[in-house]
Amino acid sequence: MQKFDLITEFTEITPSAAIATADHGWKAKCLQRLVRLELPVPGTVALPARTVRMIAAGHPVDAGAILARFGPAPLISVRASPANPDWGGPATILNIGLNAARHQALCETHGETAADALYTRFVQSYAIHVARLDPDMFEDVKPGPGALTEVLRLYAYETDEPFPEDPARQLSEVLRSMARAWEGTSARLLRSAKGAPEDAALGLVVQEMAQGIGQGISGSGVIQFVDSVTGTQRITGRYLGQSQGRDALAAREALYLTRDPRGPSLEDTAPEIMTELIRHGATCRDKLREEMQIEFTIEDGRLSVLDAVRVARSARAGLRIAVALAEDGVISPREAVLRVEPRALSELLHHQVDPRGLRDVIANGIAASPGAATGRLVFSAEAAQGCAARDEDCILVRRETAPEDIRGMHSAVAVLTERGGMTSHAAVIARGLGLPAVVGASDLRLDAKEKRLTARDGRIFREGDVITIDGSRGEALAGAAEMLPPALDESFRQLLSWADEFRDIGVRANADTPADAATARRFDAQGIGLCRTEHMFFEEDRFVVMREMIFADSPADRASALARLLPMQRADFTELFGIMQGLPVCIRLFDPPLHEFLPATREGLRELAEALARPLSEVTRRAEALREVNPMLGMRGVRLGVVLPEIYDMQAQAIFEATIESAKRGAPIVPEVMIPLVSARREVELVKTRIDAVAAMVRTRAKADFDYKLGVMVETPRACLRAGEIAQHAAFLSFGTNDLTQMTYGLSRDDAGRFMNTYVQQGVFPEDPFHILDTDGVGELLLTGAERGRHTRADLKLSICGEHGGDPESIAFCRRAGFDYVSCSPYRVPMARLAAAHLALTGNVDN
Ligand code: PEP
Ligand code: MG
Repeated sequence: MQKFDLITEFTEITPSAAIATADHGWKAKCLQRLVRLELPVPGTVALPARTVRMIAAGHPVDAGAILARFGPAPLISVRASPANPDWGGPATILNIGLNAARHQALCETHGETAADALYTRFVQSYAIHVARLDPDMFEDVKPGPGALTEVLRLYAYETDEPFPEDPARQLSEVLRSMARAWEGTSARLLRSAKGAPEDAALGLVVQEMAQGIGQGISGSGVIQFVDSVTGTQRITGRYLGQSQGRDALAAREALYLTRDPRGPSLEDTAPEIMTELIRHGATCRDKLREEMQIEFTIEDGRLSVLDAVRVARSARAGLRIAVALAEDGVISPREAVLRVEPRALSELLHHQVDPRGLRDVIANGIAASPGAATGRLVFSAEAAQGCAARDEDCILVRRETAPEDIRGMHSAVAVLTERGGMTSHAAVIARGLGLPAVVGASDLRLDAKEKRLTARDGRIFREGDVITIDGSRGEALAGAAEMLPPALDESFRQLLSWADEFRDIGVRANADTPADAATARRFDAQGIGLCRTEHMFFEEDRFVVMREMIFADSPADRASALARLLPMQRADFTELFGIMQGLPVCIRLFDPPLHEFLPATREGLRELAEALARPLSEVTRRAEALREVNPMLGMRGVRLGVVLPEIYDMQAQAIFEATIESAKRGAPIVPEVMIPLVSARREVELVKTRIDAVAAMVRTRAKADFDYKLGVMVETPRACLRAGEIAQHAAFLSFGTNDLTQMTYGLSRDDAGRFMNTYVQQGVFPEDPFHILDTDGVGELLLTGAERGRHTRADLKLSICGEHGGDPESIAFCRRAGFDYVSCSPYRVPMARLAAAHLALTGNVDN
């Protein structure tokens, strides 16, 4: 057998001892901090990770030397101390050192019942965790007299030797078994799932027992001073008389800590101990700069603090704690900003399914728009509107949504689709509306005709049945789930206003309607980066006029339909400018293929024929003629502007007249007009010439002057490559990364959901590129476009307005590329503001 040296390396935890988290683990370091704060921590020694490794490898440990630190008749515990508390570790073993003689002494000091209970407990945990006996063998042991004799007998029977009496042997066996458990395969797998590195090390701490069992007031518990779910200041925790370790957490009969009408409390029984605990909590908060949960023991009226850990917290509690610490001067606002993870904010903006409740999942899909809502199932936009009229919450379920579903979406509290991906219609609109949405739930079977939904487990849900959509997790749940309300409180606002002081890239919102704009203002967006004007035409009254315009035979008929649309558009822009109060507003001219305004069903065509007073056959023929094989690559965006220029003329006139009106109302604005889907310089020249002419005409007619900026939405690969010449006619370029991703990959944004999971699972794409910006491919086009554009025009304003605009990684990319601002759905604005601040504060060097 290999012969090893006896190892003796350990350090007593004193205020000045050399204890480091990397060597001894977080618990040892934390205990040292508590010792420095003069909290009543029982004597403790720490074994560094290298010692523990050697023990695991078979080196004998000089347990006698460790025990010598704890007096002539030691009783001790051993606890795991990995570098990061989240990595877990082997279970704590209490009461090491108990043997017949020590038991006898305890009978005298603590009484026989207490002494028996302690010894029994030790024998059992030693048998299970050290001797690795089957826990079931103690199942029939009844607590009370005789239990101790029985567990000792069972131990001897199973191991063929009596229970070890020598405390040094007990300790060295405990240390060895804990060290080995850490190296085991399942422990490795468990911690690597929590992000621990392959070589994560374990330190161990050996601590003198503070008994929670004894004659006078004795017991143990945990206490914290904030609520883990809400973050509000409130004492919570548990205390159980005559108990040890974390028993109080499991026990039903535990005492309340503070005075409580429901039952006796520690504050009633031992008010001075309660005062002491509160004082220790305040010291920890102040000096450790964190809200801590304290584990304590009371032995015969004497308080000991065994441990303190950072209070576990929800996202909303995390934010409130960080702000409260900064407001109390414990940490700086900078640190408070850095302590809150930007992605965690989305949880605060919407209702959330309460994580403590039960979840009956009936379908999984893409978490397309965060938040949660409960309502009755409906299968059509009309049914959704019907529900809204009756003031009933409903969930709109569609195979996929189309523009004519928008009103239905407005009426619903959440959306579920069978198809689609992160940038499909349903996802984009839902995010804009702040509506929870799950899309691409392909394990569902939807029968819209029969108004029936079949879940993957075969359960059938019909119109009117209640379900819950969890858009944050991409799940549909049966029934009404327990909810947590949004947390847009003062702390939220305070944190974001601190974030604004640090960040160095602008954040605007994509907002199409007055409601969106109001949300954008509520979240302090610095303007509108993308107003998709086509959404304004989906209102009932405009939809019809729009169709008339599309079906016009002659320019004169088209002009007359457009003339009816003009005042509506002018009113839209005037209202938008009014809400934005002088903040910049970037208006994108009409973008979608016209056929999106055509009826999809025969019934719809008949209604249209009626409205237009034309024969059905003619309307059907014209609708057919407008259909395209590939509409997203067809007659849309600037191509419409070139072929049917009257539409853009009308929009420009509406924008400029609203600009004049806005100035009259005391909120002057310089509107930004943006041309979509450009791929060639000449397109910009043609549109610019006409828009300049419209501006001149409006100025002359109104006898008023105004300024405006014309820019280009860069969303085709060619526009990126030719950005140098395109910038000759553009004051700004805004990258539309939804279409740009679609065209760079040649991947339909509406259909990608079908195979995206497989692609990501098989590592073809690291992430869904419609979700996380593809910085390699699409990113290279962005950099090329930005560089070539700025080469032509040094003062060119650059931004991103695709869905990626709110994503922290994309913001990092845009910031590095020197973009002026990002623009995203209003509900993502807070996350973007915080992420931008993090990047500015941490330097954003290599991410
Ligand atoms: C884009 O393509 O990135 C974009 C913002 O426009 P839309 O999503 O309206 O096509
Ligand atoms: Mg686009």
